[in-house]
Amino acid sequence: AGMTSSSSTGAAEAVAGGGDDGSVINLDHGDPTMYERFWQQMGDKTTVVIPGWQYISYFSDVRNLCWFLEPEFANAVVNLHKVVGNAISVDHHIVVGTGSTQLFQAVLYALSPADTSEPMSVVSAAPYYSSYPLQTDYLKSGLYKWAGDAYKFSKDTPYVELVTSPNNPDGSTRQAVVNQSEGILLHDLAYYWPQYTPISFPADQDIMLFTVSKSTGHAGTRIGWALIRDREIAKKMTKFIEINTIGVSKDSQLRAAKVLQAVSDSYDRDGNPKESKAFFQYGYNLMAERWRNLRAAVNMSGLFSLPDFPVEVCTFSRRAFAPQPAFAWLKCEGEIEDCESFIRKHKILTRGGKHFGVSPKYVRISMLDRDEKFNLFTERLSKIHN
Ligand code: PMP
Repeated sequence: AGMTSSSSTGAAEAVAGGGDDGSVINLDHGDPTMYERFWQQMGDKTTVVIPGWQYISYFSDVRNLCWFLEPEFANAVVNLHKVVGNAISVDHHIVVGTGSTQLFQAVLYALSPADTSEPMSVVSAAPYYSSYPLQTDYLKSGLYKWAGDAYKFSKDTPYVELVTSPNNPDGSTRQAVVNQSEGILLHDLAYYWPQYTPISFPADQDIMLFTVSKSTGHAGTRIGWALIRDREIAKKMTKFIEINTIGVSKDSQLRAAKVLQAVSDSYDRDGNPKESKAFFQYGYNLMAERWRNLRAAVNMSGLFSLPDFPVEVCTFSRRAFAPQPAFAWLKCEGEIEDCESFIRKHKILTRGGKHFGVSPKYVRISMLDRDEKFNLFTERLSKIHN
């Protein structure tokens, strides 16, 4: 929406060279098309066929607290967390959602105190994911309200702190920053997968959100899952989804189940890849290559900087590596105040720091687009000089 190029300044033409045709490069959204090639190579392994008479009911499993959760999808989630070791799913209820976006709203609904005159505060440490404030406030709910940067929060009232780790936009590993007794933590673990960051321990928080969008790249399937320790919270989230959409697409859950199970099945019991083309190895290698190319381009240009990340051992791959996040959090050095506008002159569309609650000297750039676009981006970036 509204993502077309504005004006051609001629700057892009001036820097265009090699294979660069000077076209607009839109890396504003985190659309995970980078995984398309992998799934293409998998051929029919993850094809799902659903006859017209199947899965027509609203219900999936009436004995389950989350009655619209497909058992096949639930099993695939449990199996994948076991293989990767990034979260403990036993002792947790699984709630499925239309993307983790719906689950985020279901959590806020479920956590809001019933007997309060004031909306519950929702905070997250800046830079935070730009959709949080919008999703929290767009209905002007009396139940909860966006209260901004968690570092600046000092009210003595009930609050939810969103802890996104690895963080969108800057890729950092995070912990809660507000430390008050009335607080509840929501852990958004969309990027806690071994192609992006070393898996250092299995997450075991009370409220955890995951999504196929960033794990396998199936954003269009619109499936996310929540791991919820408390039964009453899981029940209330289920109620929210019942009122909101009367459940979650079974077609999508089955497709997600097939994809997640295919990923699990490509590893043996010790977590070693059975096939030369195991999913996380593919993702890891591609992200590593992209980060090398991006850092080289940033060095060549000299106008920008990137965050540095500490090397850690990954319990899944048994490899020591530094995070290679899904987004580049690029800073314009020197006098450039508005990095988004500056880079847009070179026909590269990014999302500026203001959307994430920080300085416009920063921009967020998606690392998850198709090869062609990403390579064009690094080539053009490397040639931006003063
Ligand atoms: N949380 C974070 C931190 C994200 O980056 C995203 C996707 N951009 C989401 C949640 C939403 O993902 P979904 O596609 O599952 O709604």
